[in-house]
Amino acid sequence: MKGPRLTGIVAGLPAIVPFVGPETQERQRGRPFRARLGANENVFAPSPAAVEAMARAAREAWMYGDPECHDLRAAIAVQHGVAPENVLVGEGIDGILGLAVRLVVGPGDPVVTSLGGYPTLNYHVAGHGGRLVQVPYRDDREDPEALVAAAREHGARLVYLANPDNPMGTWHDAGTIERMIADLPEDVLFLLDEAYVEFAPRRAVPAIDTLDPRVLRLRTFSKAHGMAGARIGYALGATDVIAAFDRIRNHFGVSRIAQAGALAALGDRAYLDRVLQDVAASRDEIARIARQNGLTPVPSATNFVAIDCGGDGDFARRVLAGLTARDIFVRMPSVAPLDRCIRISCGRAGDLELLARALPEALAEVRAATGG
Ligand SMILES: *Cc1c(COP(=O)(O)O)cnc(C)c1O
Repeated sequence: MKGPRLTGIVAGLPAIVPFVGPETQERQRGRPFRARLGANENVFAPSPAAVEAMARAAREAWMYGDPECHDLRAAIAVQHGVAPENVLVGEGIDGILGLAVRLVVGPGDPVVTSLGGYPTLNYHVAGHGGRLVQVPYRDDREDPEALVAAAREHGARLVYLANPDNPMGTWHDAGTIERMIADLPEDVLFLLDEAYVEFAPRRAVPAIDTLDPRVLRLRTFSKAHGMAGARIGYALGATDVIAAFDRIRNHFGVSRIAQAGALAALGDRAYLDRVLQDVAASRDEIARIARQNGLTPVPSATNFVAIDCGGDGDFARRVLAGLTARDIFVRMPSVAPLDRCIRISCGRAGDLELLARALPEALAEVRAATGG
């Protein structure tokens, strides 16, 4: 039997599994990690109010969620001073990235992003037959001017930038992003991924302008709100662009439980403030541990720290392997020169004690093996 015929686009894609999760690694290793510091999850967990709302919603889970996410959109709109018609709720930023690509990228259409930047967009672009144009980082930051130049040169349909950035944790100030937006071509969609915005200084956040149809601001409950497993995020944009998503989105894709949790999380500002403090303290501690081991932390405006291991990608990969062998789950950038770093998510005190013990051992092993 021949089986179903894949589309030409899908048949042409490499047969890879893009994200190997920590669960997969644990099954392969035959034992769990002791510290889970690799996926930029928020170990400080959701607000108790959100947990309670989700528990309540779990009992009502026989009902579909509200396909319009009415109450949540209204609350998000109030928080940002926009109209509910400017808000799209989706299955995390990752889900919204896929829809945005589907909205504006046809086979062969160019999409501009950063080489070594957040990779999920790239898989969506490949899946829809788009053509990726990847612009190198400059001084460990995404390069807004070069991204705009590439967008103009290639006639891009879509431009992507994360501010603050993942995997480096670096950021640009609002003025730089606003200048970038001013220089964008007229017919482009600019995805400004602000997954880490709550951790960033206020001067990194441009004013929200829902009159500009080119700009979509992407936010999530996965990071600061600690709800990565609930899969819920949102986009802020111009009314017509938000409405266009209604033609293609998965209308019941955001679960009733996630909607209830997100609404309660938004309402618990005091808890969020405490988490932000815990994350800041953890970030300082990761930086201290790095320096104590002769390594250089990259200044971060996120809930993780990229640590420059002082060698090449191979050296950093060995350090990462040493941490993995010591049951610490971390990740690292995929592309040179960023891959001289390992990326460590903020953890509780106990997580970082394990890190502080494992890192010097891993480094000693790698230095002995490489003579470095
Ligand atoms: C973690 C992360 C996301 C994922 O967000 P979800 O809402 O969980 O899909 C998106 N963008 C960046 C830059 C991230 O680091």
